[in-house]
Amino acid sequence: MILCFYQLSRMMIPEKAKKIECDVLVVGAGPAGSSAAFFSELLDEDDKHEVCLIERLDNQKYLNYHEMCGEGVSADLFRDISPIKPSCIIEKIRKVREYWPGDIEIKTTMNGYIIDRPLFLKGIVDQYIKLGGKYIQNSFVDFIEKEGEIKVKLSDGEFVKTKYLIAADGANSLIRKKLGIKGRVKPFIQYVVDKEPEHDTLIFEYDEKWKGDYKWEFPHGETTKVGFPFLKHSDSEEIEGTILAKQTRMVGFGGVENNVHGNILMVGDAACHSNPLTKGGIRPGMVSGKMAAEAIINDNPLEYDKKWKKSDFASPLFLKAFNMLKEMDNHELARHIRPFRKGFNVFSTIKSLLFYRKYLEVYKAYYLSNRVGW
Ligand SMILES: Cc1cc2nc3c(=O)[nH]c(=O)nc-3n(C[C@H](O)[C@H](O)[C@H](O)COP(=O)(O)OP(=O)(O)OC[C@H]3O[C@@H](n4cnc5c(N)ncnc54)[C@H](O)[C@@H]3O)c2cc1C
Repeated sequence: MILCFYQLSRMMIPEKAKKIECDVLVVGAGPAGSSAAFFSELLDEDDKHEVCLIERLDNQKYLNYHEMCGEGVSADLFRDISPIKPSCIIEKIRKVREYWPGDIEIKTTMNGYIIDRPLFLKGIVDQYIKLGGKYIQNSFVDFIEKEGEIKVKLSDGEFVKTKYLIAADGANSLIRKKLGIKGRVKPFIQYVVDKEPEHDTLIFEYDEKWKGDYKWEFPHGETTKVGFPFLKHSDSEEIEGTILAKQTRMVGFGGVENNVHGNILMVGDAACHSNPLTKGGIRPGMVSGKMAAEAIINDNPLEYDKKWKKSDFASPLFLKAFNMLKEMDNHELARHIRPFRKGFNVFSTIKSLLFYRKYLEVYKAYYLSNRVGW
């Protein structure tokens, strides 16, 4: 039994409070929660489960929140979350350009998209509702778990009784905090700039000042989204062009020890599922949401924890590599990437294995992030 911050007595349901009952309650309609809710309905072929999705933000606030993102995904995402198809596409991505210290420029290819993320997510939530799912606009406040049942308190005093609770409430997850689990979170800042973007290309710039991360420039229609880790120095000096909007949000990365606690399943940034190297979190969030739904359909929540930990998304190599990069100065950043300055091919791989073994774990993480990083 897990007792939260609220004492049992404070959780007594007031006589007049409206009671909602369901089998699966998903908190948060971001990439992870919308996927969890959609697949919980879709895979429930015998219609055994009542699914309920709650989201604290209403229309415009919801759009604003989910717009705070580079909105870049790989085409592989849609293989993982089939039958959800690519939609709301702003731009097709074909190229990646990386700038490293020492004037090293690396050009590679990528099959991906910039999506209109808020509309894409809304589309999934609409499909979920069409399948019979319930959507409630409200905030999760607290919960108590007792004898196989979870009682959730919402901000307006309503209560929801559920068997399973899926925590998809983002990097600052209240559910994760109430479970007493610490998460690895980091703030990022992004500017929408009135500057013609380099279409079909994702640009990354590495430097010691980004402490293992990078500065990005992603195309977004006629504008460019420029972002980097939120540091104390005067960040807007990094921006060329007129700033149209400034956006700041946390990213949860590097995982948690256990994704499942009794009948509570944490997914997406609530479980710190963003990739430690790329900080891409849409795909891991949507994949973990789907895995959690599958495990619940099988009435075996721990199946989700096992499957996630076995997947490449959860490889400990990513965090190891990030921690190594964080410690590198510009000289070392240039040195470690030198074998790949003419691209990633057989020769550069052999060279890196022969002369740069010190960075082997970083190289392995790069290889893996090409498959599951976005
Ligand atoms: C600046 C920036 C740029 C990024 N760019 C990219 C990118 O290009 N590609 C990529 O793959 N990833 C990117 N990411 C990472 C990505 O945005 C996150 O990893 C992703 O949003 C995680 O999805 P999520 O569903 O777990 O959480 P979130 O997207 O944070 O969604 C959580 C939802 O839960 C709701 N919620 C929170 N608390 C409550 C509550 N108490 N009750 C009810 N509802 C609640 C929120 O309102 C929200 O709708 C970026 C992140 C940042 C900060």
